[in-house]
Amino acid sequence: SLTQRLSGTIERLRGRGRLSEENIRESLREVRIALLEADVALPVVQALIERIKVRAVGQEVLKSLTPGQALIKVVRDEMTAVMGSQANDLNLNVPAPAVILMAGLQGAGKTTTVGKLAKHLKDKRKKKVMVVSADVYRPAAIAQLETLAKQVDVAFFPSQADQKPEAIVRAAIDDARKSFVDVLIVDTAGRLAVDEAMMAEIKALHGAVNPAETLFVVDSMTGQDAATTAKAFGEALPLTGVVLTKTDGDARGGAALSVRYVTGKPIKFIGVSEKPDGLDVFHPDRVASRILDMGDVLSLVEQVEQQVDRDKATKLAEKVAKGKKFDLNDMRDQLEQMQNMGGLSGLMDKLPGMGQIPESVKQQVTGKEVPRLVAIINSMTKKERRNPALLNGSRRKRIASGAGVTPADVNKLMKQYQQMEKMMGKLGRGGMKGMMRGMRG
Ligand code: GDP
Ligand code: MG
Repeated sequence: SLTQRLSGTIERLRGRGRLSEENIRESLREVRIALLEADVALPVVQALIERIKVRAVGQEVLKSLTPGQALIKVVRDEMTAVMGSQANDLNLNVPAPAVILMAGLQGAGKTTTVGKLAKHLKDKRKKKVMVVSADVYRPAAIAQLETLAKQVDVAFFPSQADQKPEAIVRAAIDDARKSFVDVLIVDTAGRLAVDEAMMAEIKALHGAVNPAETLFVVDSMTGQDAATTAKAFGEALPLTGVVLTKTDGDARGGAALSVRYVTGKPIKFIGVSEKPDGLDVFHPDRVASRILDMGDVLSLVEQVEQQVDRDKATKLAEKVAKGKKFDLNDMRDQLEQMQNMGGLSGLMDKLPGMGQIPESVKQQVTGKEVPRLVAIINSMTKKERRNPALLNGSRRKRIASGAGVTPADVNKLMKQYQQMEKMMGKLGRGGMKGMMRGMRG
């Protein structure tokens, strides 16, 4: 993976204070190969490399980061930026019914996504939804949509096979208005490849219904082809967003980068299964992690941690594995290691799953509170550190004044200790490694 490749070049980069065009050349070559392997389209790879170079060159490397880590962070940030940084919801602020038009090749997942979106809008946004099919060429496609509508319990507008798509959709809009429908989702026909007839048809349909959202649906497994198709649709239609389907079968994640870059339109949703609830809001940072391979970022974190103090980490892991109690000495060791890894907080912030970790634990990990916590533990006696149960009110008061903090700060530390202890207990044999893994969420 990319992170593995980059850590290979770390050694050579070590000891230089700044990233320069010279010292990152080799690493950038690795980034390029990794992006191509993730099936990102070539022009997108080139543009991205350029952006990474501009951002990285001249950047000072924080003391606590190795240059390789600093570069990985730039790569990750730029990949996230290319994909649009933020999650984007549907814009339905128009007079009802808001029309959503689905466009894309046959097999991309349009009809399935209509069902998923209908369910999403009904359940999450409390909308009254109707669906209609303009796929007049394949009666089976209309029946497929009808079945899905029943399954997710939304209104289905029947299409007559001998009508033109525009006529069908106009009639559906009339009906939706009369029955106070909030959102009308229009499924369309797709061909196996981009052709003029299909583009002309969907353009005409778009002109006739003036949709609030025009979503381009694309199969993520088509990789680089996704970019080509996206370009064609983006030129023919004023797209408002993209739905990337079948991400459950795509380990590479390159289509997300390509499609976003080529269309300039936000990816709003991703398909994560065939089922009606298999639709997720798109999070660019998660896809960036996937391409970088978070598992390897985590092993990098472990690597750094071991560099900081291999012995202590091993001892702790052994201790936890043997089921021995995690005491305040262990906590101090960990805190000190985290302090030394302080620069990793930038990476840690962005780890998927960080949302599930209690804020107090997160603060320890990101190092902001660490020096104060260490000072508090230092004000305890050896005996207290080994046996935290001793710490009653008066001892806590003494420790607080010794460390120059309030008793509330000491109480907070003890809470954090208890959380860590619980976590360690749960991890058992997994030790620190397991804790890092647990953060993947
Ligand atoms: P359409 O021709 O664009 O309407 O495509 P369909 O909606 O009929 O989907 C084509 C196939 O892709 C069907 O077998 C769907 O079940 C499958 N599919 C669609 N979206 C997803 C997804 O997100 N994950 C998986 N695994 N399959 C999907
Ligand atoms: Mg279909």
